[in-house]
Amino acid sequence: MNLNGKKVAVLGCGRSGVSAARLALAKGAAEVCIFDSSPHASCADSTLKFVPGATEADARDFAAELVVLSPGIEADIPWTLAFTAAGAPIIGEIELGYQYFKGRIIAITGTNGKTTTTALIEHVLLQAGKTAKACGNYGYPFCDVVMEPEQPEFAVLEVSSFQMETIHSFRPEVAIWLNFAPDHMDRYTKVEDYYNAKLRIFENMTPDQLAIVRVGENLPELKPQVQEFSAVVGSGRLYYQQNYIMEAGRPLMGLRGTAMEQAHNAENSMAAILACRAVGVTDAEIEQGIRTFCPPGHRCETVAEMDGVLWLNDSKSTNLHSTEAAVRSQTRPIILLAGGKDKGLDYTAINPMLEIKARCCIVFGQIADQLEATFSPVCKTIKVETVEQAVATAAKEAQRGDVVLFSPGTSSFDQFTGYVQRGQCFRNAVLKTLNL
Ligand code: ADP
Repeated sequence: MNLNGKKVAVLGCGRSGVSAARLALAKGAAEVCIFDSSPHASCADSTLKFVPGATEADARDFAAELVVLSPGIEADIPWTLAFTAAGAPIIGEIELGYQYFKGRIIAITGTNGKTTTTALIEHVLLQAGKTAKACGNYGYPFCDVVMEPEQPEFAVLEVSSFQMETIHSFRPEVAIWLNFAPDHMDRYTKVEDYYNAKLRIFENMTPDQLAIVRVGENLPELKPQVQEFSAVVGSGRLYYQQNYIMEAGRPLMGLRGTAMEQAHNAENSMAAILACRAVGVTDAEIEQGIRTFCPPGHRCETVAEMDGVLWLNDSKSTNLHSTEAAVRSQTRPIILLAGGKDKGLDYTAINPMLEIKARCCIVFGQIADQLEATFSPVCKTIKVETVEQAVATAAKEAQRGDVVLFSPGTSSFDQFTGYVQRGQCFRNAVLKTLNL
């Protein structure tokens, strides 16, 4: 890509927009301007040209020759289209970074488990003495990695469906597809649109590259080589059986006592093993990495164990699929705390599992009425307003041997700024209730 002398419009002033703007300037663009439709938006880098409250007229006046779109902004809304009306191509920050990254790319997508798997792969690579950086949707823009004085050998790139909407030639050496379930139905009109956007991770790959896919994902035939993993015994190149990752009928690695023991984290581990092997890390190095890995917080994280009751914070659960995974992974009777913003998801699919595994569901937030109507036919369900009330109710309902699982199953924006604040609220409420 030659940016010399070009006018580049970057849409969206978040971290990835700022990073893309800096890279475009570093690569010789004549003029780079960040546009944001919100009049209240602010740009973290005051040296960059920035237009808050930008209108479609501003877009036409600027006459960009390249448009870099941030993942939070839709490509087909009139505001975005005004920037491309004169024929400027539109790409995302991932594609821009890809044009200038000289290292190797391991890309990770899926509805759930991306961040955990990305962090794990970065950890294993670093432990094995490689240089690697977790980036992308992970929170550190890919373009920042590209601009590091010495690019790492590996970019471990978490990619969301939104980011895949705006690639052209992006081609990772290894691409992981962890799982797929309906989500983001507040952004996509059809589930297929979400699925097809994610599927683009494989679009430019050839048989020289590797796709790592969970068994049963129902993907079309892929051009790269495929290796599969599964939590179901006996299927896939790697599978999980009684706390062991198995290969060809033999134990490869035990996960008991590691932070990756639960079934969904075993899936993340198997994907990471296949990816790290493919880029030359030995099994012994990978095992060492998995043993010393501490997953990021708010993901089935233990808050306390008191009077025989285990309290788990899974605030990062923002869709039904992750709550299902968390419920499936529990071996004790469950008090499930779920609720939050109404994202248009249907929760009935979890009912058969709740009927067997849950002692009680405590529902809260904007979606509480819907959840109460869904869960109450199969399980005692109590509706409350807030997370604090949910914790107080759970403390009354829980019996020795239970697990109180805070796995909301939807986003938090009805009551919180995000899953971190929600998780902290849960943690504080638990510690206060238990006098810890
Ligand atoms: P993402 O980055 O895709 O949102 P995270 O690693 O942050 O994934 O985990 C999000 C939620 O999904 C958490 O509730 C976590 O417990 C759950 N989770 C993690 N890995 C998996 C998996 N492989 N399958 C299902 N749920 C998972």
